[in-house]
Amino acid sequence: MAAAASPPKPAPPKLNPVRVTIPEEPVETRVEDFREVLHAYSREEAVLEAQRCIQCRRPWCVEACPISQDCREYIRLVAASDFDGAARVTLQENPLATCLCKVCYHYCEDACVVKKKGVPIAIRQLKRAALELGKSDLVYVPSTPKHQRVAVVGAGPAGLMAAWELGVRGYSVTVFEQESRYGGLMQTIPAYRMTDADVETDRARFRDLDVTFTDGTKVGRAFPVDRLLREDGYEAVLLTIGTSAHRALGIPGEDLPGVLPALEFLKDLNAGRTTPVGKEVLVVGGGDVAMDSVRSARRLAHGGRVTLVYRRSRREMPADPEEVHGAEEEGIRFLFQKAPVRLVGAGHVAGMVVESLDLGPPDAGGRRQPIPIPGSEETIPCDTVIVAVGQRADLSGFGPDLDLKLTSQGWPEGKGTGFATAVPGIFATGGRSVVYAMGSAMEAATAIDAYLAAKRGAAAAPRPDPFGGEGAFHLPPGYTTPIRV
Ligand SMILES: Cc1cc2nc3c(=O)[nH]c(=O)nc-3n(C[C@H](O)[C@H](O)[C@H](O)COP(=O)(O)OP(=O)(O)OC[C@H]3O[C@@H](n4cnc5c(N)ncnc54)[C@H](O)[C@@H]3O)c2cc1C
Ligand code: SF4
Ligand code: SF4
Repeated sequence: MAAAASPPKPAPPKLNPVRVTIPEEPVETRVEDFREVLHAYSREEAVLEAQRCIQCRRPWCVEACPISQDCREYIRLVAASDFDGAARVTLQENPLATCLCKVCYHYCEDACVVKKKGVPIAIRQLKRAALELGKSDLVYVPSTPKHQRVAVVGAGPAGLMAAWELGVRGYSVTVFEQESRYGGLMQTIPAYRMTDADVETDRARFRDLDVTFTDGTKVGRAFPVDRLLREDGYEAVLLTIGTSAHRALGIPGEDLPGVLPALEFLKDLNAGRTTPVGKEVLVVGGGDVAMDSVRSARRLAHGGRVTLVYRRSRREMPADPEEVHGAEEEGIRFLFQKAPVRLVGAGHVAGMVVESLDLGPPDAGGRRQPIPIPGSEETIPCDTVIVAVGQRADLSGFGPDLDLKLTSQGWPEGKGTGFATAVPGIFATGGRSVVYAMGSAMEAATAIDAYLAAKRGAAAAPRPDPFGGEGAFHLPPGYTTPIRV
């Protein structure tokens, strides 16, 4: 007897490789001031873009997101024009969604299957559509109070995420921040990308949680961290102090007037204390801070020339390609394979002596090492220099008993499970981008929950629904674990 013919396989979904263009402010107008560069999709554009998603059975996009944001689900809801539902799904896992929909480096998009055939789904931009076109003024609800207090030191993305995670689980949280504003290094991101108002929009949804924010309080020397545990009634402490100190070039002339540390320059700009720049601005560095500095200086220089000086080639630049492209469009001059040797000037910076570099074989990290070319020194005239070669943690007042590890990009972490330090009850973490900082804070807060549950003789439980509904945090179907690199 002939075998029954097997049913025909369903045709694989067709990929549309062409993205709905994200609206942008034209270059001529955007360089005049700090107006927003990227604009939101309209309702129709968002639905069209979301309909390009093929709703993969295994959600590569979700797996690549450090906080496991169920972007596949909010995209599905946007495609069905359910913007309220999409906003709720987004906020259910992501308490800093208003910030992230503008500045996240969208690791999800790099993993999106559509990228194999064309331009990946605009996942970050669809998050923005969900929040701006749906009902996003929701308020988080704490679960049953645990009557245990946790101190979080630092109100950057990691500190805010941990405060949310613990607040939703019913803990009483106090966030100690040394600055007068919240958001950590997000406070240095220029207004043409995001503003303070975005941080405040996200923080406003915390208002019913038992989370207290204390600004202007530096934990460390005058206020030792162990005092929180010994005297102030906290049962656990999470340090999320990030990398807020400037890293200098360490060359002669760096103290000349006109030489500015990038973090200070950008922070002052956002706080309305704009430092004037001249007509020949040089920015040293190749990362995102350097990119924000050149593009900000371009907006302040009013027709002056802004140049980026970087020691490797364009290919090795660690900056986000989107930012590099934006800078190029805005007329920034790039000088590659040049390193500053000294800064010169009488009473004010007037020139940068640079040497040219060759690139040697790749190091262990795969980056080619710059090698100075003898006799290649030249002087580039300038009246302003912005130094953007990295940041470091300010560990003053934190003792060796914590046994902290500094990551390759300089932020302090506990070496134990869930970022526990060597002092019981004290944890420490942070991250190389907003969403990575949030992801590691989520892990640390979950470990703190387990630590405190054990102290009260209970079992650790999953995160409850942050809007007070039934059920707990779930992983999307097919999901395995976030990819950490
Ligand atoms: C100019 C610039 C642009 C960036 N652009 C992007 C971007 O577009 N997308 C992206 O994803 N990432 C971006 N980043 C990186 C991102 O901002 C950081 O990775 C992220 O903020 C790290 O979060 P964190 O909470 O670990 O630390 P931080 O943001 O550094 O926060 C630490 C907080 O702790 C406070 N603090 C420190 N010490 C103490 C103390 N002793 N007591 C009390 N408070 C203390 C600090 O004041 C700060 O508020 C950018 C960074 C910079 C500098
Ligand atoms: S938070 Fe960032 S990485 Fe995660 S889904 Fe949103 S845009 Fe993608
Ligand atoms: S990987 Fe891309 S196509 Fe697949 S579900 Fe995620 S966004 Fe949609």
